[in-house]
Amino acid sequence: MNTPQSAHRIVVKVGTSTLAYPNGRLNIRRIEQLVKVLADLKNSGREVLLVTSAAIGVGAGLLGLKERPHDVGGKQAAAAVGQCELMYTYDKLFAEYGHQTAQVLLTRDVVEDAIRKSNAANTLARLMEFGALPIINENDTVATEELEFGDNDTLSAIVAVLSHADLLILLTDIDGLYTDNPRENPEARRIDVVEKITDELLHAAKGAGSPLGTGGMSTKLHAAEIATAEGIPTVVMSGENPELLYDLLDGAAIGTLFKAKERA
Ligand code: GLU
Repeated sequence: MNTPQSAHRIVVKVGTSTLAYPNGRLNIRRIEQLVKVLADLKNSGREVLLVTSAAIGVGAGLLGLKERPHDVGGKQAAAAVGQCELMYTYDKLFAEYGHQTAQVLLTRDVVEDAIRKSNAANTLARLMEFGALPIINENDTVATEELEFGDNDTLSAIVAVLSHADLLILLTDIDGLYTDNPRENPEARRIDVVEKITDELLHAAKGAGSPLGTGGMSTKLHAAEIATAEGIPTVVMSGENPELLYDLLDGAAIGTLFKAKERA
């Protein structure tokens, strides 16, 4: 049975609300902490793949827009600007710790076609063999509606499956799944472990994400459904203090753990 402690290959997904300020500019302190922890996890012998959001949000910030554009062309243009800034920042910071990054941009059609899907899986496998650290995002600059995953929670689950990961971690702006929306209901309590994703949970998770990001708790549940069905446990936790990743991997009850389904 896969557990966070025993995980060797880990996919970490980080959302826009964790990486950027509400004005769309990068939260440099947060990114530095995250990169330091991920680099250290790699040094300890684990394998890490990072699924990053924030291309559109950061692009909008750099372009001085007040909010994320709503039209397709605007989103694509903002992503082209933001993705550069993201990779520049990650590459520079990971290089400080001696790790080589690799940019991987995917669209949904890649994983819907058997040959292209297997090519993408091979590329990820080779990057892992080479010891590189793949940094993955949706290829927002070319992804139009019929090509897009739509949110990086879903993308990260697909990447976890494609890369045969042992664990998927979704870093977000809340410390797990609650019985109700904790921002509105003070009685809401955090759920430590989810054995099975039920309709009741899906209902508790409704509600949108932040003004700059796309996901919310329901896309995280959807991601957990995809990953756990393939035997990959999934954790939803706060990205505010990336050092909590150490505690999680040491076996502490951090965030919400969605247990993997036993495979026949
Ligand atoms: N791919 C989008 C971006 O980089 C993010 C999608 C999401 O936040 O789920 O801006």
